[in-house]
Amino acid sequence: MGYQAQKVTIVGGGLVGALNACFLSKRGFDVHIHELRPDIRKQELVRGRSINLTLSTRGLEALKAVGLDEEMKQSGIPLHSRMIHDLDGTRRPISYGTKDQCIMSVDRKYLNGLLLTAAERNPSVNIHFEHKFVSCDFQAGTSIFKKPDGSKVTAKSDLIIGCDGAYSSVRHQIMKATRMDFQQAYIPHGYIELRIPPTADNKFAMEVNYLHIWPRNEFMMIALPNVQDNSFVLTLFMPFEIFEAKKTREQVLEFFNKTFPDSIELIGREEIVNTFLSLKPLPLVTVKCQPYHVGDNCVIMGDAAHAMVPFYGQGMNCGFEDCLVFDQFMGKFDNDFAKVLPEYSEYRNPDAKAMCELALYNYTEMRESVNSKFFLARKHFDNF
Ligand code: FAD
Repeated sequence: MGYQAQKVTIVGGGLVGALNACFLSKRGFDVHIHELRPDIRKQELVRGRSINLTLSTRGLEALKAVGLDEEMKQSGIPLHSRMIHDLDGTRRPISYGTKDQCIMSVDRKYLNGLLLTAAERNPSVNIHFEHKFVSCDFQAGTSIFKKPDGSKVTAKSDLIIGCDGAYSSVRHQIMKATRMDFQQAYIPHGYIELRIPPTADNKFAMEVNYLHIWPRNEFMMIALPNVQDNSFVLTLFMPFEIFEAKKTREQVLEFFNKTFPDSIELIGREEIVNTFLSLKPLPLVTVKCQPYHVGDNCVIMGDAAHAMVPFYGQGMNCGFEDCLVFDQFMGKFDNDFAKVLPEYSEYRNPDAKAMCELALYNYTEMRESVNSKFFLARKHFDNF
């Protein structure tokens, strides 16, 4: 019998699963992604997920390793500074670092599509959409997936990688098979997304190379530019109880008048009221667990291993870095899963946990500390 490449099953074709397929196909594996949803590239609107993301050096390094960084940079918008919107309408920039440092605003759907297309370019990658992971048998190396018509598919592989997000079913299977420590915590704040359309002459309605922030101490709104249609996507983060107290058009508009007056004309009254009254705010969860693997044939990465609140803009970036770090261990141990999995798990865990903590801390920084005297003083220097 001729040589047969080892087979890898990736559960989840989101950002991390798709990038992982690019890394693993480069190593010559026979890669199968099984994704719960239909192909994101053919969908009009992906509800319930943030539309825009910030991509930082951490994520770009991982994209670079599979040759996708330049393509991504060209389709994103560099953000050099935060733009603080004070209550009286004053806008003041606070830079992130030196003039040549920036993060990128990227479109989630575009990025996910780009990664799936890049993975598919390699003939050893197969993507199975509408395949819901149900369970697996670690001893046999088999995973079971359910299709929309109710039928089941069994896939046998040498390695199962769970990239199936914060509520990971693969993680659930690992928890049954090994002594995994697990913590999940919600914050009392949720979020909704709004939109600032382009101007009548199709220009951005605010300064473009900034992450706009309306910090109001107890809560905040942020806006990221969207290169695809010159709009801004806004995210309002706020305690659930404040969301729930706004039940009428008048209450919603009064709240915006009081807290975000300069945003009303930009967003539009109807968009504010309709979004506020029709959308349920979404929760924000932190997940920490340890170890990330079981035996020599299953490991979790991305949000499945370390979901974090979005305030540090590092959830996806950290997940991308997981793929890079895993690839480095694969190189070090010559693709020997029995060595790679425990080493990767032990090495990666403290870093990912630290990122979860930093993400929680940065919420206070974004909604409150930027209003402090220290930041107001820094404005003076940022103007130079
Ligand atoms: P996901 O993106 O959740 O993908 C998981 C995939 O698995 C999905 O496609 C899902 O359909 C699939 N799946 C789930 N269950 C199954 C199953 N049973 N069978 C098969 N497939 C399954 N991060 C940043 O770096 N920068 C940011 O600016 C940023 N902003 C954010 C803003 C908000 C409001 C939120 C909520 C998050 C933000 N994040 C940000 C975090 C980022 O969205 C996540 O870290 C990232 O999406 C994780 O990627 P993932 O592939 O691990 O998981």
